[in-house]
Amino acid sequence: MKPIPYGRQHISEDDIQAVVETLTSDFLTQGPKVAEFEEAFAAYVGARYAVAVSNGTAALHLCTMALGVNKGSRVITTPITFVASANCVRYCGGEVEFSDIDPATALLDAEKVRQLVESKPKGYYSGIIPVDFAGNPVNLEEFRKLADEHGLWIIEDAAHSPGGYFIDSKGEKQRCGNGRYADLAIFSFHPVKHIATGEGGMVTTNDVELYKKLLLYRTHGITRETELLEENHGGWYMEMQELGYNYRIPDMLCALGLSQLERADAGLARRRGIARVYDQAFAEVSGIQVLQTNPAALQEDHTGHAYHLYVIRVEDRKGLYDYLREHQIYAQVHYIPAHTMPYYRSLGYSKGDFPLAESYYSECLSLPMYPSLTQQEQEFVIGKVKEFVQK
Ligand SMILES: *Cc1c(COP(=O)(O)O)cnc(C)c1O
Repeated sequence: MKPIPYGRQHISEDDIQAVVETLTSDFLTQGPKVAEFEEAFAAYVGARYAVAVSNGTAALHLCTMALGVNKGSRVITTPITFVASANCVRYCGGEVEFSDIDPATALLDAEKVRQLVESKPKGYYSGIIPVDFAGNPVNLEEFRKLADEHGLWIIEDAAHSPGGYFIDSKGEKQRCGNGRYADLAIFSFHPVKHIATGEGGMVTTNDVELYKKLLLYRTHGITRETELLEENHGGWYMEMQELGYNYRIPDMLCALGLSQLERADAGLARRRGIARVYDQAFAEVSGIQVLQTNPAALQEDHTGHAYHLYVIRVEDRKGLYDYLREHQIYAQVHYIPAHTMPYYRSLGYSKGDFPLAESYYSECLSLPMYPSLTQQEQEFVIGKVKEFVQK
């Protein structure tokens, strides 16, 4: 059997054709595919605006800039995430305030965040960055209520959850990144994510003012729009109005993204199918715990979980990781808690600060989960996992 990774991209003939077409067009960087991808993606998640950028980390940075994060800002996020969710606060000089997870889901615990926020005077915290970890949607309605009471903004890190949704208290389906409850949301198109463009990212929002800022910061803070200019010297004239970056994504990658987006629902259905098979296989096995789907994302038989990852918890995680590798199954660990990284320790965090996140980390393992995983490969993985745990 071929090596089995925990995640991988799927590139079709149509994808290749789409890229080849843009290569021979007039546009290598900013061309018509950028706007097309933005429009299609905004429609897919149900948001008003989308801004395509060079990667998910750039998307996060543009969000913290647009929200005015600075030296005085304190922003709450989860330790169980890719470090970029926290780093984007540091890029703007703000303080990262980690808060512990709900051990059942490994998501940022909204109740703990409430306690943290309420323990300080109003204005102490600026915002919250909840993460739809593993594709499991956070209940943004709950976070929004808290945010409104305390004047906080919300950036939803939806890198794991395109196509996922939760059901709000009115019974309405809220797709991840739709901008209904969060001010801004970000996505990543790194090859292990649902939609792959090599490198790439997207910000979505319903807020037109934030949208305009994102556009400006994406390209050096430069505008050419006549109605925004302070002066106008002629057709060539542009103004750099703010300090921005070059976070643009090339047209050919947007063409790839558009082509991938067409298969997003099929990929999602396959991911959910794979998850059901794992769920059934491990349900009766003592020694294996699976993460629970957020109750808000569960309705009848249907699940809003987008399954970027399928995580199990086992006592001898290192043993299982090594055993699977011996059989060329490359499971992975998501994540080493961000606060235990040397960089965040240098800012004052220590091991022991978030015991639930740390205990989760000591047991978690992400099993192979991607649309092209075959039934035979999945059975092989399940067999090896059970063999190890039951030995
Ligand atoms: C992948 C990822 C990012 C960053 O995306 P890049 O495109 O790799 O920069 C941010 N947050 C989470 C949770 C991610 O998994």
